[in-house]
Amino acid sequence: MGQDQDSSFSSIDHIGIAVADLDAATRLWRDTLSLSFKGIEEAPEQKVKIAIFELGETRIELLAPTAADSPIAKFLARQGEGLHHIALRTGDCQAALGEMEKRGILLLDKTARSGAEGTHIGFLHPKSLRGVLVEITER
Ligand code: ZN
Repeated sequence: MGQDQDSSFSSIDHIGIAVADLDAATRLWRDTLSLSFKGIEEAPEQKVKIAIFELGETRIELLAPTAADSPIAKFLARQGEGLHHIALRTGDCQAALGEMEKRGILLLDKTARSGAEGTHIGFLHPKSLRGVLVEITER
């Protein structure tokens, strides 16, 4: 593929789910589905709170807005609760973003930025991926 090992995708890092009520959704995934709950993080620049669950190598992240102008608040207003994005794991987020751009994928983030749990992340435009919002995650 002409892509080095570090910038290729190795697994689904996590699945992001938009929720309106973080406490109710956390109870559902923790108590009813019995997933391993890692805790809640706040991402102030994204204006979201994230409840993180571990499921093998993958995580489920519940995303709730902390402000009316949060991207998640806009998503909820448009589409309601549900699947928001999938995140593909890579060894080098910046290199993977560059590689995707070279292949004609529109980027929402040209430069990798910080995500939950000390990760480096960047988003690809859903217009380039047939309606799916894809995040690239480097752990
Ligand atoms: Zn994510």
